[in-house]
Amino acid sequence: MKILHDVHNHNIFSNCCNDNSASTDAFVKKEVELGNKIFGLSNHIWDESVKGASYWYSKQTITKAEEAKASLAKAPASLKCLFGAESEYFHCHDRVGMSVEGAKRFDYMLIPHSHQHMRNQVLWDLPEIQEMRAKIAADVQAALPYLAEDTVKVMANALQEAHLKKYIEEQKTDLGKYMADAAVKSFYDLCANETFIKICATVPTSIAHPFAFCGIPNEIKNSFLINIPDEVLYDCFAKAKAIGAYCEINCAAVTEHGMDLEANQLMRVFANAKKAGCQFTFGTDSHSVKSLEIIRVGDQVCDYLGLTKSDIAEYLQDGVEE
Ligand SMILES: [Zn+2]
Ligand SMILES: [Zn+2]
Repeated sequence: MKILHDVHNHNIFSNCCNDNSASTDAFVKKEVELGNKIFGLSNHIWDESVKGASYWYSKQTITKAEEAKASLAKAPASLKCLFGAESEYFHCHDRVGMSVEGAKRFDYMLIPHSHQHMRNQVLWDLPEIQEMRAKIAADVQAALPYLAEDTVKVMANALQEAHLKKYIEEQKTDLGKYMADAAVKSFYDLCANETFIKICATVPTSIAHPFAFCGIPNEIKNSFLINIPDEVLYDCFAKAKAIGAYCEINCAAVTEHGMDLEANQLMRVFANAKKAGCQFTFGTDSHSVKSLEIIRVGDQVCDYLGLTKSDIAEYLQDGVEE
């Protein structure tokens, strides 16, 4: 099956896009060239009506993202354009970065649970790092007793993991197991989150790049993911299916886990999602015009998993060719 849609990509409206040519017009032009039938733009967005945005998200608002809509409206009739968003789930605070009212301003929604590089937002510090932070806070407070407790807390929390690691003699925590366990927990908690459940009932919603851990080298991603057994993956997607959430097949994440699909642990994730009855959406997660081309990875994944049109989310079924 050929995938003729891409509903996960970032252009100049996302802070992480470094391609200055990645305007909405340029994305639309490239999608037409690629022969896609449905294009959805999905920049990183934190709804400005939801409290608790990190500094990085605070400037990426719905109002700013909506500036792209004028260009989407000018696309040729052969390309159906959708206005979407990749928002966020801060597992540490059980908070979705999009309100139900905010979601209504979009054609569809992507919510990730695996931006684990966002420490103490998506993933709590490793236990050793937590201990070191607490020790530094206690030592600073003892040395500078005139500082208020909240001042000391801000200072200790501002230190990056890379700095703190230098003072840890031995990291006893198995990072792969720690991240895998946290990903399972965050998936379950997302599927039980009231706002997320309501968003799923309001607009087509996918769990973006499920179980693709961010912030670790590509070479070790499969060895981390192997920690999660099939029956756990199946149960996670049964929960997602029950609330009407789709499973995203993210071409960039597939590539990062390796194009030897037999060895690619994400295939096990998707196979369990399929077994649980979840439907799929495809996206490149491209941050440049050029990498919109990797949507062809989606065709290979479809063939490998034996996906057919009925496995695709209804709103995108015109965006595949059997
Ligand atoms: Zn993401
Ligand atoms: Zn993305």
